[in-house]
Amino acid sequence: MNCLEKKILEDGIVKEGNVLKVDAFLNHQCDIELYNEMGKEWAKRFEGKNINKILTIEASGIGIAAIAAQYFNNAKLVFAKKSQSINLDGDMFTAEVESFTHKNVNHVIVSKKFLNEDDHVLIIDDFLANGCALQGLLQICKQSGSTVEGIGIAIEKGFQDGGKIIRNLGYQVESLAIVDAMDASTGEIKFRD
Ligand code: 5GP
Repeated sequence: MNCLEKKILEDGIVKEGNVLKVDAFLNHQCDIELYNEMGKEWAKRFEGKNINKILTIEASGIGIAAIAAQYFNNAKLVFAKKSQSINLDGDMFTAEVESFTHKNVNHVIVSKKFLNEDDHVLIIDDFLANGCALQGLLQICKQSGSTVEGIGIAIEKGFQDGGKIIRNLGYQVESLAIVDAMDASTGEIKFRD
C-alpha cells in the first residue's frame, strides 16, 4: 500500500453521494510530506517526458501541483481560475466545467500569456471523478496549441467514468490511488491493486 492510500484509510471520510472527504490532508489542511512523496512518484511515472509546465485548477490542485513542480525541473505552475462570467476581451483561453462536488458550472480561464504552443504540459489535479475538470483543462491546452504530456491525479474514483473516458482519448493518466469501491454506511474503502 502506498502512503496516499494509507493516509486515505487513516483520515479519509466516505460521505453520501460518492464523495470522499480528505480535508485532513489534501483539501483543507495540507500534508506537505505526503505532497513531496506524490511529487516524486509522478516524476518517476513521467520520467523522460520533457515537461516545462504544470497546469492545474484552483483551488485544491494548487498545493499538490506546486510541490510536484519541484520534481519537474521547477516547471512553471499555471492554475486555471474559476470565474462566474465569460471574459470577452480575447486574452484568455476558456472552458466550461461542471463541478462534481458543488453541482454548478464554472467557466475556467487561463491567460494566453501563460500557455502556448511551445509548452509541454503535465496536468495535475486532486480528484478524478467524471472527468469534467480534466476535459476543461484539456480544452484549454488544445486552444493554446500546447502539448499534453500526461495527467497526474492524486485520487481517482475508479467506479466513476472519468478515468476510462480520458484514457480512451489516448492520454497517460497516472493516479496515485484508485478507489474502486467505497461505502458511506460502513466507511469501507477498497483500492485497485
Ligand atoms: P470530475 O470533474 O472528474 O467529475 O471531478 C473532479 C473535481 O471534483 C476535482 O477537482 C475535485 O475538486 C472534485 N471532486 C470530485 N470527486 C470528489 C470527491 O470524492 N471528494 C472531493 N473532496 N472532491 C471531489
